[in-house]
Amino acid sequence: MSSNWDAFYGASGLRPVVNVSGTMTSLGASIAVPEAIAAAAAILPRFAVMSELHARASRAIAEATGAEAGFITASASAGITIAVAAAMTGTDLSRVEQLPDTEGMKNRVILQAGHSCHYGAPVTQGIRLSGARVDLVGTATLVNEHNIAGAITDMTAAALFVVSHHVVDYGQVPLRRFAEICHERGVPVIVDAASEYDLRGFLAAGADLVIYSAHKFLGGPTAGIVAGKRDLVRACYMQNAGIGRGMKVGKESIAGAMAALKAWGQRDAAGIRARERAALELWLGAAAGHPGVEARIVPDPTDNPLDRLELQIDAATAGASALAIALDLAAEDPAVIVRDHRADHGILQLDPCNLHPGQAELVAARLSQTLARAASRQLPDADADAWRRRSETGFANWEKSE
Ligand SMILES: *Cc1c(COP(=O)(O)O)cnc(C)c1O
Repeated sequence: MSSNWDAFYGASGLRPVVNVSGTMTSLGASIAVPEAIAAAAAILPRFAVMSELHARASRAIAEATGAEAGFITASASAGITIAVAAAMTGTDLSRVEQLPDTEGMKNRVILQAGHSCHYGAPVTQGIRLSGARVDLVGTATLVNEHNIAGAITDMTAAALFVVSHHVVDYGQVPLRRFAEICHERGVPVIVDAASEYDLRGFLAAGADLVIYSAHKFLGGPTAGIVAGKRDLVRACYMQNAGIGRGMKVGKESIAGAMAALKAWGQRDAAGIRARERAALELWLGAAAGHPGVEARIVPDPTDNPLDRLELQIDAATAGASALAIALDLAAEDPAVIVRDHRADHGILQLDPCNLHPGQAELVAARLSQTLARAASRQLPDADADAWRRRSETGFANWEKSE
């Protein structure tokens, strides 16, 4: 890795991180693409009439998604709150200023129970922050079409549909039918597709608004992208005079997100795929031959064009649990952070989307080293209860973080 890399970490005192866990807020999301960095840097020292910048962003989003219009906000999470607010207020400015008091407005949002997930915060809170209330539909593992139809009332302002590896991936009504049922009853459909590469499919399947993170696969600055029907998008934009003010997006994020969208359309998708494949093959080789470790390449669960390396660890044979292996990889310099949300099932994943040159090789070396140490019983036991409580502990100790 370059000396710039070392210089940055040396000067900041931050621990160097190699991210093979995916686009994680806890690690700073993604590697921003050069186009986004240049666009943000160019506008930061200059003024612009923000409404003109927003108008350009709307056109750029429309072009990239096929939507009528688009809006940039602080994050996808903010986008959910603002989209729900827009569905409640329409383009009535007095209503915009009235929120989160929803007196006199439709204020219920339906959500399939299996979509009620936590992406770092509860998606239901993103809805409620606008003043709306959530009506969960069906059960976590089974939602029928009649549950959706039955949950819609005169007070239903919108329906939210979540596309994510965080949601229950069976027993839910698919978007096309979900949208048809809602539309027959005059209810607009908002899709949270924060991490999804597909910029057109959800609108085509019936979404009235769709929400993406600019800082995930797109490699933009921190921002949320909302695309969809013109009236609803205008109502989103108008929330800047209301609850959206606390979720304000700066000129640098708007310009950076536009540049990232444009760069996304021009990227060498096949070349990126081939580089990611080469990293996966390298890691597959590094994991081979270690007892109690089965490695295979698996597709993304929501059909993004991306594969990951999955390690299934049998702790007794491997000499350490999946969690102990993940913690060992994270403990050294640089920290190698793997995807560990299924560690309690003995599963770890390595995501190849956020690598700098040389890092695939570094990860391969560290992986075989750690697995070898596990096999010779040199890894300390991991405390699974403490790991489950890590976010509470992390908040309690935040000033002591290294
Ligand atoms: C990441 C994520 C979010 C939050 O996105 P931010 O832009 O970081 O606020 C919301 N929903 C899903 C499904 C996500 O994966």
